[in-house]
This record gives sequence, C-alpha cells and structure tokens, in this order.
Amino acid sequence: MPTDPVVPARSAAEVLAELRGLREADAPTRGGRTFAYVYDAGIEGLDELAAAAYTAFATVNGLDPTVFPSVARLENDVVGAVAALLGAPGAQGTFTSGGTESILLAVKTARDHARAERGVTAPELVLPSTAHAAFHKAAHYLGLEPVVVPVDPVTFRADAGAIAGAVTDRTALVVASAPSYAHGVIDPVAEIAAAAAGRGVLCHVDACIGGWLLPHLRRAGRKVEPFDLSVPGVTSLSVDLHKYGYADKGASVVLYRDAGLRRHQYFAHAGWPGYPVVNPTVQGTKSGGLLAQAWAVLRYVGEDGYTALAGRVAEASDRLLAGLRAVPGVRVLGDPAAGLVSFTVLDGADQPDLSLLLHLADELRILGWYLQPQLSFDGLPPNLHLTLTPATVGQVDALVEDLGTALGSARALPPVTADPALVGFAARLDPAALGPDEIAAVLAFAGLDGDGGLPSRTAPVLALLDAMPGPLKERLLAEFVGSVFRV
Ligand SMILES: *Cc1c(COP(=O)(O)O)cnc(C)c1O
Repeated sequence: MPTDPVVPARSAAEVLAELRGLREADAPTRGGRTFAYVYDAGIEGLDELAAAAYTAFATVNGLDPTVFPSVARLENDVVGAVAALLGAPGAQGTFTSGGTESILLAVKTARDHARAERGVTAPELVLPSTAHAAFHKAAHYLGLEPVVVPVDPVTFRADAGAIAGAVTDRTALVVASAPSYAHGVIDPVAEIAAAAAGRGVLCHVDACIGGWLLPHLRRAGRKVEPFDLSVPGVTSLSVDLHKYGYADKGASVVLYRDAGLRRHQYFAHAGWPGYPVVNPTVQGTKSGGLLAQAWAVLRYVGEDGYTALAGRVAEASDRLLAGLRAVPGVRVLGDPAAGLVSFTVLDGADQPDLSLLLHLADELRILGWYLQPQLSFDGLPPNLHLTLTPATVGQVDALVEDLGTALGSARALPPVTADPALVGFAARLDPAALGPDEIAAVLAFAGLDGDGGLPSRTAPVLALLDAMPGPLKERLLAEFVGSVFRV
C-alpha cells in the first residue's frame, strides 16, 4: 500500500481557484493605483498576448539554440530591436531575465575585460550613490570593490568631476544611470563616459528603467539628452523590457559596444564529461517563454505604439508634478526625466519630516494607493517614490486629491520616532555577531515578528529602520525576509 501522499492531487479547477484566491491580498497589478513594481500599458489584449506567446514557448529550452533554433531567431530580433534604438554600429547583446542579471553580466564582463586587457587583479567599481543596488550585489558576488561617489544633494545627479576623481588604475567599470531609480533623474552620461574613456576604463549606462521610455519620449517630441551607446565612451547598457517595454517580468537586454567586449560575458566549459557548455547568461536551462512573450509584446506595440505610450507617461508625470508642487509642504526631488517621481514632505522648519512622510504612505495605502517609501541615505532625504505608467494617467488627479486628505490625517497622528535609547544601543551592536535570540528580540521590538509581512501600519518599523546604521539595517531586513519565507 502506498503511504498517504504529502501533496494530494487536485483538479485543475481547484488548483487555479486556489491560485486566484492567493492574489486577493496582493496590491493590484493593473488599474494604475500601484505606483511601484508594476507596469501597466493599459492596452486591451496585451496581457493575453504575452500569456499566449509564453505558453507557445514554455517548454522550449533556451539553453541550446542549436536544438531550438527559434530561440536564436527570437533573441536576435529582440536584441536587434534594442540595438537599433540604443546601440551603435557593431553593438551586440544578450536577452536576460531582468535588470539585475543584465547588471551582473555587465560587471562580470568589465571585471574579466580589465583582467585580460589591463592586468587588473583587484578591480574597483566606481558608481554614484544613486546607482541601483544591483551594482552592489554584482560587486559582492563577483569580488569587486565598490567605490561610491556622492551625488549632488540638490539635483540628485551624479557629479561627473567627482566620479572622474575616483577612477584609478584598478577601476574596471564606471556607472551612470539614465535615469536613476530612486529619484528618476538622468546622470551627466556624456561627461562621465568621457572621463572613463580618458582613463581607458569601461562605462556602463544603467538604462534599465529609462532605456525603452526615453527614446520614445524623444520621438513624442520631448527633449532627451543622449544617453545610449551613441555617446562616446559608453561601452555597455542595460534596458529592462519588463519595465517600459511592458513585457511580463523576466525580460531585459544587456548591450555592448562590440563583440570583443561581449565575449567576456560568456562562460564556456568543456572540462567535464557532460555536454559542451556555453552559457551566455547566469542561467543554464531557461524557458523560451519569457523571450517569446517579450518578442510578441515588442512587435504588437510597435514603435508608434511605444511613442504614444511614452506620451501618456509624460502626461501623467506633468499632471502629477503640477499637482504635487501645488501642495504646501510637499517637495519634489530633483528634476525627474519622466516616468519616475519622488517627493518628500517638510516640517515647519522646511526640513524633511520622516514621520509625516511614513504616516502619509500608510494613510494613502488605506485609501487604496501604493507609493514606495525610500529611507534617508547619506544626507539625501527620505521620500515616496512613484513609477508612472500609461494606466496611471487617469488616476493622477484622484491621487493628488487623496494626497491632500491623507496629509491632513497624517498630520493629526502622533509622530513616530525611533526610541533614542534603542537607536543608541543598536549603534553599538555588531550586526554580524548577533545571535538568533537577539535578532528575534529586535524584530519583535520593531513589530516585525508577525505572521509574514509587514504590520498594516509600516511607519513605526520604517522610522526605526531609518535610524539604524546600514549594516544593522541590512542584517535585520535579511532576517525579516527570512522569517517571511519560513520554510
Ligand atoms: C529596475 C532597475 C534595476 C534592476 O532591475 P530588476 O529588473 O529589478 O532586476 C536596475 N537599475 C534600475 C535603474 C532599475 O530601475
């Protein structure tokens, strides 16, 4: 007799019903009220097309384009479209699973290039403080030393002169963002790339979020300064098709100036008794589905479609900026290039008011809006971040109105403050040395010992985190997420 199954089989209908039920507590991914993580083109039928294209290629293994030549055709088409828009003659690239993977690969390429061409054995990665965390992840995984250069505290743009000053003989790669995720401002790409080129160093433009929006904004008649591989000195670029390309998640491209550079990205191995391995990306086996859905979405929307969508994003941005600037006590950060906006709120002395900001985020959440809290960092103010998509155009006015209401409620709440005694205590802790009991105690104190996820009001937790030193913050966040994934 077989033993009772641990996972009993269920009907397809039951399985799907259960999955759909799980979505109920999630933030909505369509409809324009979730201002981070999701990209809604608002085009009827687009999700269905992406799903059908995925399904058609779900069982194909992208590991081997000689067995599945369709994969090579699709990837050449997708990377070709990206190169046509953002490349330079001779540019070559790779389809990846997302911005993080594109960045990991660009950093690996730069590391191996610096070793091979310049004999650099202890490589450094020079980046503005606003560069995406994925670069720190890449440096951590790949053994580079990050050299972080502060940005201009007023414009939030990278300081090209300071970056030039940070380049050494060990620099493998210099980074600029177009735009940065945190504040949505475009770094002075041409100056940064020229400084890198002057030292014989590679320069990556992180256009993960802007790469598919900016050229179409330009086509829609907006002024966009050059930021891609056509800029002298730019040697690689990343662009996420799962952002303003509106493909489903798992779609990005990393592009290089030429084949000689891209060669450093590939991993080949013949020293085992299995099949000869060539992996252009981090993954081995990978579904052809993600590539196929990105290919389908790009074709379906087309150049004119993306231009129209970019126009709608710009309209949402214009309306939001006008609305925000009219609210007393709200300050928009920097000069957002379109798409991304972040703002802070000020106290009576015109200083960023963390407590009010966090209460505001919670109050807006109650009203059905998700804005993304970003904590203070190195003199840069805490803020709320919004990613605007075409679906948000019709929501922006209502959001601004609710923002006024929510700000009123937030002002009426008792301020959240991190207990100074706890903050002082925390500052003296060695995050690496904390044992399970101490971690549990701190998490419980912060209100993070609940049953998976944040408490419904996040302000007290975030205020405490904001006051903690970076390494302790990182340890606690990792422990918290570890507690969410309980098994
Ligand atoms: C989204 C983003 C990334 C990281 O991409 P993922 O797709 O989340 O892995 C990197 N840089 C910028 C500017 C981004 O917006």
